[in-house]
Amino acid sequence: MPELPDVENFRRYLNSTALHKTIEDVDIRQESLLGNIQDADLRGALLYRTLEETMRHGKYLFTRLDSGDWLGMHFGMTGFLDYYKTNGKEPAHSRVLLRLANGHILAYVSQRKLGSLYLIRDGVQAFIREKKLGPDALDLSREEFIRTLTSSGSMAKSALMRQENVAGIGNVYSDEILFQAGVHPRAAVKNLSEKTLDKLYQSTGRVLKKAIDKDADPGKFPQDFIIPQRHDGGQCPVCSESLKKIKVSGRTGWYCPICQSR
Ligand SMILES: [Zn+2]
Repeated sequence: MPELPDVENFRRYLNSTALHKTIEDVDIRQESLLGNIQDADLRGALLYRTLEETMRHGKYLFTRLDSGDWLGMHFGMTGFLDYYKTNGKEPAHSRVLLRLANGHILAYVSQRKLGSLYLIRDGVQAFIREKKLGPDALDLSREEFIRTLTSSGSMAKSALMRQENVAGIGNVYSDEILFQAGVHPRAAVKNLSEKTLDKLYQSTGRVLKKAIDKDADPGKFPQDFIIPQRHDGGQCPVCSESLKKIKVSGRTGWYCPICQSR
């Protein structure tokens, strides 16, 4: 599932491809992806407009139209953006296609059809409040981070994944953040020391920034990252212990029983 580093890469991709080009056609093939708007209304809002700038909050990507409206995107489990020449090969599972005046298409692609598109007329901040998203994981102070986590009273992995606390972290990156901080996924946040909470905060920023730098591509991640080892037979990159699977809040995570002992 696309998390903060993936969506940040989509944002940069959109910036370097589809901005400032008139949208000449809108092809919506999967209406179930439309979050707060009807097919015809989205088409009307996009047609003959240009995308002017982008921003990201947590796992959401926003792009402002020259009309002042914003198009919001959430990528569900498998979504991403693709930009290609009109006569080029269309990616499989293209669900919404914007044909641009420069002979290219910007496609919202989603194999499992679980993402959402939104038309936002009242500004992005109102949308963020309506969705009850906490501060972006790369945009909160140590004090805010500790306060919001400790007030949730849950297990460390759940607290990190709860978008109302901190927006942007999901199943995969919470594993990495906990591993880098040496925290067990089921550790109760209220029992963590100030020092451990600080480690968790530092590790959150470091892991997410590093992943963005490496194009959110696990093949490029540093040697000491656990993400490339999240599979059966995977080993701890630090102590070589076999990683263990664990269910937390209905999600299957991975951790090292030695480096993240309780
Ligand atoms: Zn280990």
